[in-house]
Amino acid sequence: MDMKLLSGMGYMPSPIPGMYKKHSLTWEKLQSSDKLEQQELILDLLMKTINSRKRQYRKCQFCGEKVAVEHRFDMNTCHGCASKHFGVVY
Ligand SMILES: [Zn+2]
Repeated sequence: MDMKLLSGMGYMPSPIPGMYKKHSLTWEKLQSSDKLEQQELILDLLMKTINSRKRQYRKCQFCGEKVAVEHRFDMNTCHGCASKHFGVVY
């Protein structure tokens, strides 16, 4: 989710596969809500999405690369640097 996409959406629902499913916000729920409620739902969803992206990516303490959670050795170390600096073999 980048800012260009955010502004492109204009806070209106956009059928991004998996996005609503992940946070249990459905199109049907949106349709049955009034305008203000819709905005709140979408904002809430966007904040959740943004926050979860922030949590998933961290800078590696050695190479400074942003590493996704599944490619990290620990909170601050990517797999490559774990091998280099800690002698971890995959
Ligand atoms: Zn690294």
